[in-house]
Amino acid sequence: MSPILPGRITPDDDRLMEELTCRRCATTVLVRKNTRTQTSIQWLADAGETCTELAEQRAAGKPTGLVSGCTALRETIEDAVTEGRISVLDEVR
Ligand SMILES: [Zn+2]
Repeated sequence: MSPILPGRITPDDDRLMEELTCRRCATTVLVRKNTRTQTSIQWLADAGETCTELAEQRAAGKPTGLVSGCTALRETIEDAVTEGRISVLDEVR
C-alpha cells in the first residue's frame, strides 16, 4: 500500500489536483499523484466529520490529523489511477 502524504499545497498546484469522491463516505477530496507511490490529498471539508471511517477513528481517540485518509478513499484513488482517471504526474511527459 502506497503511503499517502498529507501536504501543504500551494495555489499553483491546485490545477494539478483532481477531484475525487470517496466511494464509501462520499467525502470529496483533491488528489494529486506525484508518483506511483506518492499521493497528496487536500480535504475539502473536515474529514473527521464527513468521512465515517475517520469519524470512527476520532471517536476511538485517534487524532485525525495523523490519519491521512480512510481505507476506502485510498482504494478509490488506486482505482482512479488504474483506470486513468487520475494521472501520475511523474509519468506525464
Ligand atoms: Zn472515507
